[in-house]
Amino acid sequence: MLQRAVVPTHAAEGRDAVLRRLYDLIASVMPQDPSDVAAISLAVPGPLNPYTGVIIDAPNMPGWVDVPLRDLIATHFNRPVYVGNDANLAGLGERRFGAGRGCDDLIYMTISTGIGGGIISGGRMVLGQDGLGAEVGHMILVPDGPLCGCGSHGCLESLASGTALGREAAALVRTGQAPTIAQLAGGDPAQVTGETVGRAALAGDPVARGLVTQAGRYIGQGIVTLLHLFNPSIVILGGGVSQLGDLLFEPVRARVRELAMNPIYWQRTPIVPAALGDDVGLLGALALALESIGAPH
Ligand SMILES: [Zn+2]
Repeated sequence: MLQRAVVPTHAAEGRDAVLRRLYDLIASVMPQDPSDVAAISLAVPGPLNPYTGVIIDAPNMPGWVDVPLRDLIATHFNRPVYVGNDANLAGLGERRFGAGRGCDDLIYMTISTGIGGGIISGGRMVLGQDGLGAEVGHMILVPDGPLCGCGSHGCLESLASGTALGREAAALVRTGQAPTIAQLAGGDPAQVTGETVGRAALAGDPVARGLVTQAGRYIGQGIVTLLHLFNPSIVILGGGVSQLGDLLFEPVRARVRELAMNPIYWQRTPIVPAALGDDVGLLGALALALESIGAPH
């Protein structure tokens, strides 16, 4: 890592203002001679088409509908540009630089405000015809379950994301069943987030631990289906919720052992924490550029 630069998105200012900030940010780290740059690579929240580099829609970012981001940046800087879904690329990054080094069959899952994923099967990233594959957070596990951000009900994301943890905990706070969490949130259910639940769980609060266990069991349920579909050699969990460590991982692994149709599915498939931390997006984008220009592993 030679240089690092960060600017806030200020999405409310609209698409063109955000694009200008993006151009300025890239320019600020460009070397004197742009031909020293083999490629520019972008990890972007979906949905987007990674083949065309078009952002289909960016929730929370007004005006970002059908934006040809790859071509805009390629034209502006006259360099090759690659674009990928941030969770897909996190999987690619973990494979090249992190917990999944050397693995040709890998499932990556990020558990934070939402749940995203990256799947590598037979050495190739699973993208699908429109590049919209590997949405592991939207496997429907509980028909008629909680409403998901995607509009469906009972998706894994609606059951086990940080947002889901916060929602479940807030409901318990409202009915007086979660005194420790209530205290951490200053008594206001509206202030309860997944992070509040995490803090309470790490401090030993049994209610918070129960919620984390429940989330872990749903994640395990989702992972079992992925094991049956892809038979990976490793499953890597990243994102803020995964930082709860064994409080989360133990119920995940236990549920996988309960539900796998044959022990072989989990006996040789460790379920491990991600290794790249906050750099996962940067290193994922780098991995995409390296794969795209055919750099050897
Ligand atoms: Zn969903």
